[in-house]
Amino acid sequence: MILLFLSFRTPQRYFAQVKDMLPVVVVHGGAGQIPKDRTEMSTAGVCSAARAGYTILCGGGSSMDAVVEAVSVLENNPCYNAGCGSVLNIKGEVEMDAIVMDGKTLGSGAVSAVRNIANPIQLARLVMDKTSHSFLTAEGANQFARSMGVPEVSPESLITEYSRMRWVKNLAPDANPVESQMGKMGTVGAVAVDSEGNIACATSTGGMLNKMEGRVGDTPCIGSGGYADNLFGAVSTTGHGETIMKVTLARLILFYIEQGQSVEAASDLGLAYMKSRVSGLGGVVSVDPQGRWAARFSSQQMSWAAAQTETLHYGLYAGEHFTQSLEKPL
Ligand code: ASP
Repeated sequence: MILLFLSFRTPQRYFAQVKDMLPVVVVHGGAGQIPKDRTEMSTAGVCSAARAGYTILCGGGSSMDAVVEAVSVLENNPCYNAGCGSVLNIKGEVEMDAIVMDGKTLGSGAVSAVRNIANPIQLARLVMDKTSHSFLTAEGANQFARSMGVPEVSPESLITEYSRMRWVKNLAPDANPVESQMGKMGTVGAVAVDSEGNIACATSTGGMLNKMEGRVGDTPCIGSGGYADNLFGAVSTTGHGETIMKVTLARLILFYIEQGQSVEAASDLGLAYMKSRVSGLGGVVSVDPQGRWAARFSSQQMSWAAAQTETLHYGLYAGEHFTQSLEKPL
């Protein structure tokens, strides 16, 4: 009996079990509360993004390729506060932030306050891959984009009717843009583990509604908007940036995993700490090296989706968890 138990626990068997859980990708479409007429769009968008990331992983692509693809799909979807659809700053302009991190090397790339770029997440990856720096901002980041041949798009092409309407509404003297934003959600992010066990994260945002020009939030800040380490896992965050930065939420959750917490418990502990310590609400998607994952939030809602072992998982409200075969077309 003992022998049987021991043979069950051999490293080969354990590795085979871990392999069964890989690859995996988990995405989010922002923490907050989504208006009823936008719930379907928001859920459909994260499901498409998780499928896109999973297709890359199943074709032998890396976790970095998968998270960048998933986030690009969400940036291209006007329903989210990233890329086209980004919220506007006080001057009515789009300024975007993004980060990627590679859990194998702990290399990262980030951009902040970039304009006229359709996919800031791809620019963040270029910063990681093609420069000796990890973070470029504003005009310097835009200049680098030009030097890399990244096409510039017109500022208007990133602005939707919906974001302009919210900007105007929040110019009113009695408006509360932070509350209004947590009432609408939209930052996007992804985490993934590929079949080789390499882990990556990516997060992209237009930031906070009616923010000051030049304001940079948590998203492009390593350890706040995201963190990835092959030894412990990866996290992508969403919520009020100034609050997330106070607790370096992504790294805090990985610290709890490092201390032996499950990926779900660690995510809940990080969010609970942010709530009790600095009254902040938010959401995260997290994975560990074994491919266990969580999509957790303290806000009212967060659209999320995960793809693993030919199954698509998704949800929006707390406690919601639907599944569908990935073979079933959208
Ligand atoms: N964290 C983002 C920021 O503060 C906003 C969000 O996640 O909704 O820029």
